[in-house]
Amino acid sequence: MSPLNTKDRPYSIRRWQGPLTDELVRRPAQFGLGQLPSRLQPDATVKSVCGFCATGCSLNVHLHQGEAINLSASPQYPVNLGMACPKGWEALTPLSAPDRATMPLLRQGADLKPIEWPEALRTFCDRFKRIQEQHGKASVAFLSTGQIPCEEMAMLGAFAKFQMGVLHGDGNTRQCMATAVAAYKQSFGFDAPPYSYADFEQSDVLVFVGANPCIAHPIMWQRVMRNPRQPEIVVVDPRKTETAMAATRHLAIRPKSDLVLFYGLAHLLIEWGAVDRAFVEAHTQGFDAFAAFVRQYPLAAVAECTGLTEAQLLSLAELLASGKRVSFWWTMGVNQSYEGTRVAQSLINLALMTGNMGKPGTGANSITGQCNAMGSRLFSNTTNLLGGHDFKDADHRFKIAETLGVELDRIPTENSLAYDQILEEVEAGRIKGLWVIATNPGHSWIEQGRFRRLREQLDFLVVQDMYHSTETAQMADLVLPAAGWGEKEGTFINSERRIGVIRKTRRAPGQALSDFYIFKALSDTWDDRGLFDQWTCPEDVFQSLKALSRGQPCDITGIRDYAHLEAAGGIQWPCPEGTEPETERRLFADGAFFHADGRARFCFDPPAAIPEETDAAFPFWLLTGRGSSAQWHTQTRSAKSDVLRKLGPRELCLEICPEDAARLGIQPQERVCVRSRRGETLATAIVVPTVQPGQVFLPMHFAGTNFLTQQVVDPHSRQPSYKGCAVTIEKR
Ligand code: SF4
Repeated sequence: MSPLNTKDRPYSIRRWQGPLTDELVRRPAQFGLGQLPSRLQPDATVKSVCGFCATGCSLNVHLHQGEAINLSASPQYPVNLGMACPKGWEALTPLSAPDRATMPLLRQGADLKPIEWPEALRTFCDRFKRIQEQHGKASVAFLSTGQIPCEEMAMLGAFAKFQMGVLHGDGNTRQCMATAVAAYKQSFGFDAPPYSYADFEQSDVLVFVGANPCIAHPIMWQRVMRNPRQPEIVVVDPRKTETAMAATRHLAIRPKSDLVLFYGLAHLLIEWGAVDRAFVEAHTQGFDAFAAFVRQYPLAAVAECTGLTEAQLLSLAELLASGKRVSFWWTMGVNQSYEGTRVAQSLINLALMTGNMGKPGTGANSITGQCNAMGSRLFSNTTNLLGGHDFKDADHRFKIAETLGVELDRIPTENSLAYDQILEEVEAGRIKGLWVIATNPGHSWIEQGRFRRLREQLDFLVVQDMYHSTETAQMADLVLPAAGWGEKEGTFINSERRIGVIRKTRRAPGQALSDFYIFKALSDTWDDRGLFDQWTCPEDVFQSLKALSRGQPCDITGIRDYAHLEAAGGIQWPCPEGTEPETERRLFADGAFFHADGRARFCFDPPAAIPEETDAAFPFWLLTGRGSSAQWHTQTRSAKSDVLRKLGPRELCLEICPEDAARLGIQPQERVCVRSRRGETLATAIVVPTVQPGQVFLPMHFAGTNFLTQQVVDPHSRQPSYKGCAVTIEKR
């Protein structure tokens, strides 16, 4: 008998006789709509991890008559200790925005017209199946996200790859964390950020590279401010960021000279004998070759390349050699580079050679961006097989097939193409169907002019999102309306590997469904395989994720359930069966890394050529980054809040230094045109000394910025190099 006919099956989209609205009236709770979970008291306070950034703060969501009406920061949670940034405090507001997608929408001519769910599901399946029949399985791909819970990511990856037969899917985490992933995998043997937030408070020297936690991760910065050891705080960044202003020293290096800087520092430390020989010999491999390599980076040459003085370099090297607890922290200034993986590893190398690993206040620590980018890295079934496994490993495929009850031959034996490669396949006309889930590449992807032209190549574009108004949703043929954070359940993994629970505290509007139910409905409509029959709620999926993680470095079989996670204040991986989780725990305290021989690797290469140098026609180097703590990525959500809009600029503003502004006759607040070889945008000039002569800065939050950037990727991680290109500035 087909599983679709099973009487006790809790849910089947095909049994719907009428429009979804009739079903919602009769059985709303089955669709994640209508009533809140019955265990919630109407006036309860519910804990939920924040749905913006990867800090993973816990918020107390206060209900009145069964609906969330307000929230406050959880004082006991070990991450945020009663603090939240503006986005967290405003987390409920974007849920009430008028441009929420409340019905499925189907393109009819120039317009997107509302349709019922059964038609939307049939359209999704019919159109994608037809494309696959005509052009092969690989002609349909998906682009996922770091914004939905682990459980939904796993369902998406399983449905797309094991049921639809899709070979290529990637996530927007490619845009922010792929470099850290590649660096850790090569250096440590597994994608394993080693730290705990306690390290912010236990370090004597904190070196932030291409990171601006004051506004990008404000609660992490608050943890730094709680450090009682009077630490030295070093910021390495071409721009005088908010964090650089608050640091004890700022090294304003020339853009893209970071790799030379860190090789030069390694050379100095080796010359001085400031190497933890015992740690290097016991726990690493490749140090001698690295030591020979960095001899090419003598002090004077490094000073000339980086624009720093020899005294600055010597002083920083002395800090690193001090024998005190040194921690290295990086984020997008490193990751979003054409050679980001090697830059990240140059920091890992410094931590390894000085023995700053596995001890309090140490580590080579990548700070993650999105709320569940870390979950995506383990459970999205995109770059690796579910649970940090390898698509190419037959044993791994067997384990996943056994655990999920999937036929072995449905698991791909090759890795997916990366994001940029998927788009190149669209450009080449080989990928004809694209499914975009909870991300907005029509704003965020690099070199927008090129991206926008891709739309014409696609036969069918589906966008699944909370809002029908995003740039990408407006391009879609079919929009599937999704519930957002606060309207569904699941788990996120934060930057320090802490797994926390998000709870449903209000109804999604109209006919919007949680991604969990959308994936279930799509799976049911696709065929009668019953792939998700075993999963009736997100917590069922979580139990499967536990089983998938068994024996992996990210083993979480010791976590019982959501209640266990909530009672413990979140739990960091690993937590294998039989262990009791500690509140804070870093990796590698035992010096055992995840390569088969237990040793970390020194990875290095000579610096690559800068892809696009400035010249007479394009004389300025464009820096990009976060604008304020009130703005989140493409502002899809944060711009919905009046409060957040008041805390950040309302329009695209260009930072230019007084010398350059005077030379070009640009007055403060004057409109300027910023042009690169790929496009142009208008901006308002802000004349500030935060940028150096010859450099300008634009925030990432307005769509114009990515019409300038250039699609260049790091060869190891294939992460785009958002952080620099050549531009020219003209008065309007
Ligand atoms: Fe949310 Fe990040 Fe702000 Fe914490 S720091 S409240 S997780 S956006």
